[in-house]
Amino acid sequence: MVKLKVLLAASEVAPFAKTGGLGDVAGSLPIALEELGVDVRVVMPKYGCVKVKGDKAVIGKDVKVYFIENEDYYARKELYGDKFGDYHDNLERFAFFSKGVLERCKKEGFQPDIIHCNDWQTALIPVYLNTLYKYDQFFSKTKVLFTIHNLAYQGLFSRDEYPKIGLDWVLFNIECFEFYGKVNLMKAGLMYADAVTTVSPTHAKEILTREFGCGLEGVLKNKEHVLSGILNGIDYKVWNPETDTKIPREYSVSTLDDKYVNKEMLQKELGLKIDREIPMIGMISRLADQKGLDLLAKIVEELLSLKVQFVLLGTGDNKYHILFEKMANMHSKNTSVNLRFDATLAQKIYAASDLFLIPSRYEPCGLAQMISFRYGTIPVVRETGGLKDSVKEFNPKAGEGNGFTFSEYRADHLFAAIKRALAFYKNKTVWPGLVKSVMALDFSWKRSAAEYLKLYQRISQNNKPM
Ligand code: ADP
Repeated sequence: MVKLKVLLAASEVAPFAKTGGLGDVAGSLPIALEELGVDVRVVMPKYGCVKVKGDKAVIGKDVKVYFIENEDYYARKELYGDKFGDYHDNLERFAFFSKGVLERCKKEGFQPDIIHCNDWQTALIPVYLNTLYKYDQFFSKTKVLFTIHNLAYQGLFSRDEYPKIGLDWVLFNIECFEFYGKVNLMKAGLMYADAVTTVSPTHAKEILTREFGCGLEGVLKNKEHVLSGILNGIDYKVWNPETDTKIPREYSVSTLDDKYVNKEMLQKELGLKIDREIPMIGMISRLADQKGLDLLAKIVEELLSLKVQFVLLGTGDNKYHILFEKMANMHSKNTSVNLRFDATLAQKIYAASDLFLIPSRYEPCGLAQMISFRYGTIPVVRETGGLKDSVKEFNPKAGEGNGFTFSEYRADHLFAAIKRALAFYKNKTVWPGLVKSVMALDFSWKRSAAEYLKLYQRISQNNKPM
C-alpha cells in the first residue's frame, strides 16, 4: 500500500523549540503517526535555540524534521518576541517560512498529500498554494488541514505591511485578508484550508459562537462543513506513575497503596499534617482569568473549613498571587501555596492528590485532566472545551463517569461538585474502583493520531472533504 505523505508545518516543535502546547503537539503527533504507517515529515524555522548541525534532524524512529534557515529572521533567542513585545518583522519572518516550506518540499522531492498547518504562523501556506503555486503540478494533489491551537492569536498586522506577503492587493478584501482594516493571516489561511480542526470536539462548536470565536466566528461558520475537533493526547512515556523518577514512590493500578506513600511524602515536604485519610485537593495552573480562579476565590473559606488539604502550584497574574498568599496565611494548617513554575513539584502533586481542580472559564483542550487520570487523581472540572469531552460525571450506579463536573460558571456549582467528590472519597468500596478505572483510560497520542489519520485520508481522497 502506498503510504500517505504528510508534512506537518509548525512554528515550534518539541524538543527543538517550545513555548506552549503547540510545541508538544508538533513534537508528539508525528511520532505517533509514524507508528501508524504514515510517511510524515515536519518543518519548522531554525531558531537560535535549535542546537542541531545542518538543516535536518530526526525524531521518533525516522521522522525527518526540516529546518528553514535564515540567520536574520530566526537566529534569535526567543521565538516570537522579547520583553519589548512581538518582533517587529514577524510578518516577514513567517511569510518567509511559509514559502520556505513549499520550496523545501520541492527540494526534498517530497510531494505531500496533506500539509498540516498549525496556527497563524503557517496560515500563509494554504494561501500561497492556492495563488502563487496554483498551477504548480508538484502540488496538484496537495490538500491542507489547518489546526487552530489558540484562536486568540491570529497574526494581525497593519495594512501597511500587506505588500510584504508578496500577493496582489486584490486579496486584501473582506473574503480573505482584511479584518477591520488590518491584515489577518489566520483568517486568510482558514478561507483556503481544505479542512479545519481545533483541539477538542466541544471547542470546535464553541468557536462558532461570539463568546469564543475571537471575531472569526463568521469565517468559521462558513467552514463549519469541514470543521471538527480532535482532542490532543499526552505523552504516556513522560507521564507515567510506573516509571516517574520525580515522585518518591512509583506505582501502578496493582500497587495503588504506593500512591498514598507519595501523598504522605508530599504532606511532609509541604509541612501539612501527615494523614493519608485527609482528602488532598491539588491544582496546577497558570494563574490567569481563563482558569476559573475567581470561582475558587469565592469558595475558599468554605472549602478550607472542611477537613481537606489544598495544594496549589502556579504562577501568573499578580492579583492571584496576592489572593493565594492571603489564603496560605489564613489557612496555613491545611493549605500549601507554591507560586512558581516547578515541573518536579507538579509531578509530585499529580501523584499525591486525590482530587484535582480545573474550574476553567474556557479550555480548548486541557492537559491537566489527562495527566490526573494517568496518576489516579480524580478531576473536578467545568464542562467546557476539552474538559467536557474528557471528563464525565461519576455515577457508580450506572457504571459511568471518571470525575466530577459542573456546567454553569458559578462558584456554588463548583463547590457542589467538590462536595459530591468528597462524599464518594469517604466511600471505601467505591473510591478505589474509580481511581483504578481512570488510570486505565487512554488519552495517549496514539488515539489522537488515529483520528488525525482518518481525517487526512478523508481529505486526501475527497475533492470535497468530509
Ligand atoms: P494551558 O496550556 O492553558 O496552560 P493545559 O492544562 O493545557 O493548560 O497545560 C498546562 C500544563 O502546564 C500542565 O501540564 C500543567 O501541569 C503545567 N503547569 C502549569 N503551571 C505549572 C507550574 N506552575 N509548574 C509546573 N507545571 C505547570
